[in-house]
Amino acid sequence: GELLKCADIAMFQSKKTGKNRAVLYNNNMLSAINERMNLGEYLHDALERNELDVMYQPQINTESRRITGFEALLRWNNRILGKVTPDKFISVAEETHLIIPIGDWILTKACRFIKKMQSQGYPHLCISVNISMIQLLQENFVNRVQRALEETEIDPAKLELEITESILMESHTIITTHLARLRSLGIGIALDDFGKGYSSLSYLEQLPITTLKIDKIFIDGITDAEKDTSITGNIVKIGKKLGLSVVAEGVESEVQLAYLANQQCDKIQGWIFSKALSEEDAEKFVIENLAEITT
Ligand code: C2E
Ligand code: CA
Ligand code: CA
Repeated sequence: GELLKCADIAMFQSKKTGKNRAVLYNNNMLSAINERMNLGEYLHDALERNELDVMYQPQINTESRRITGFEALLRWNNRILGKVTPDKFISVAEETHLIIPIGDWILTKACRFIKKMQSQGYPHLCISVNISMIQLLQENFVNRVQRALEETEIDPAKLELEITESILMESHTIITTHLARLRSLGIGIALDDFGKGYSSLSYLEQLPITTLKIDKIFIDGITDAEKDTSITGNIVKIGKKLGLSVVAEGVESEVQLAYLANQQCDKIQGWIFSKALSEEDAEKFVIENLAEITT
């Protein structure tokens, strides 16, 4: 059993690093495999044990500086391992397919949260939820999303699903079909991490997306608020020409913010405004940020 699992993981690893590439095991990899198997075991009952949580990071309209909504981000606090970051456990959740029940859970929980905020007098707020390829490839994925919408009674136009480019390489037909069906329901689709890894500008035209999220790599490089020739500004321009809402993520400094405002980037997400917040703090953030226009 153990050896088979290792072979499975090695195969997944080889798929991840590129097709037709053999990956050999060594001791390093074996301990990495062990760690991941442990993670998988602990992750298995994370849902039942109530170890998962959702944090919400505000998205801000660049011009008005008002909050437009949140991105839901998964958190895991295990009784033995302590806090495990998504960068470590999401891939394990994908390999084990635990991302399917976990994905359903976070989608419903995030929709319920935004519904609550909308009912409290902020009906414009949107929620963005990250979706893994494993979920998107499920035959009944669109139905699962519909169920979450019905259960929480939120307007589909206030839900945005974030997908990443790497996931688009495989099974192109299933993915575009599912995305088109989600779009026809009125749900928004954001292309996440744009510019990182295997980027292809052609995806922007081929896929039924509504939002372009520029990866932090292109934000980190901004050092001059006025410089107009950088790649980042041109990505904003292309996105807007295609009629997409353009979001910059990982914005940390005033210079970056000023540059993005100059380029008329639609929305900002990053520590300059707020880190991901607990539900309670997210609620406070909305009230404080919108206090002036609601009174
Ligand atoms: P992501 O979707 O690109 O999310 C943005 C990440 O950048 C988050 O990390 C966020 O906390 C972090 N971040 C936001 N603003 C800043 C900033 O100004 N500076 C810096 N240095 N970092 C910033 P996080 O929460 O650790 O999530 C990491 C990744 O895990 C996410 O990247 C996403 O790919 C994945 N993930 C998180 N939650 C979920 C989920 O519910 N489902 C799936 N499938 N993936 C998720
Ligand atoms: Ca995201
Ligand atoms: Ca991202």
